[in-house]
Amino acid sequence: MSLLDVRGLTTEFRTEQGWRPAVSDVSFTLDPGEILGLVGESGCGKSTAAYSVMKLLGANARIAAGEAWLGGENLLAMDDNALRKLRGDRLSMIFQDPATALDPAITVGEQVMETVREHLGLDRRAARARALELFRQVGISDPERRLSAYPHQFSGGMAQRIALAIAISCNPEMLIADEPTTALDVTIQAQILRLIKTLLVTERRSAVLLITHDLGVVAQICDRVAVMYAGRIVEVGDVRSVFADPLHPYTRALLDALPTHEVARGALATIEGRVPGLTDRPSGCSFHPRCPHARPVCATELPPRVRPSPGREVSCVLHTADG
Ligand code: SF4
Repeated sequence: MSLLDVRGLTTEFRTEQGWRPAVSDVSFTLDPGEILGLVGESGCGKSTAAYSVMKLLGANARIAAGEAWLGGENLLAMDDNALRKLRGDRLSMIFQDPATALDPAITVGEQVMETVREHLGLDRRAARARALELFRQVGISDPERRLSAYPHQFSGGMAQRIALAIAISCNPEMLIADEPTTALDVTIQAQILRLIKTLLVTERRSAVLLITHDLGVVAQICDRVAVMYAGRIVEVGDVRSVFADPLHPYTRALLDALPTHEVARGALATIEGRVPGLTDRPSGCSFHPRCPHARPVCATELPPRVRPSPGREVSCVLHTADG
């Protein structure tokens, strides 16, 4: 059974033209010990989908439909208090900017200790020992001294390690990681991704929902990938199959734009056109204005979701039958 089962999620944003869907009929599952990449260009709805699952939306957003089952509980039907407790105990998040999760006025040691005292019920002495252990796990040297440092005294990569220490401190069943390495250089990026895999998946068998615009990151760490375009999931599959044989023209275009492919072909690939905004999403298949394979029907009808082979899903008229 899946750890997380999201069904038919639709989230709307308030615009000058009224409520408009940022995420439409999104469904996916996440198993224990699995890393699922939610990938797409900026504005495709991937962060909104993930934040909806945690009900972390601003006042200008509302969940219009859907369910998100974690075990036997529908997160979207829970009240705020229950959800807040669940977010500390069973679900964690890390963000692109670790400062989002860190209070600049409090030492990082106090912040980690506060989290474990609140959620694990440890006394001060045990919380300090736990904080030191966590600092060592995320690769912070001289942890005794670093406990009394403030967030601004850390580099971006080290601050992300602290945020990761807080995120894993209560042994969460699931981590949502929103572009956790986008602001970091390639070497540090690889280190943080390795830590996520080791500390969450290998050691705790937690599930990770990784939001990224970067298929290179997906290739490094994810087991499966869900590709989003204009608020909808257009393709899902295991990473190896999707990279070897992308079924949706948008997935193919993203892969063609990867640097390794550019080098191999000696040409720079880009995806023609732009991602439509919330208020100007095209009818039918939203990708049709940019799609080299578009047919007349693509402009008027939403393509059905089909499963051409086990574990693969795609929404495109080029694929019409389940396997
Ligand atoms: Fe292209 Fe049509 Fe498939 Fe959309 S449904 S990706 S426009 S071929």
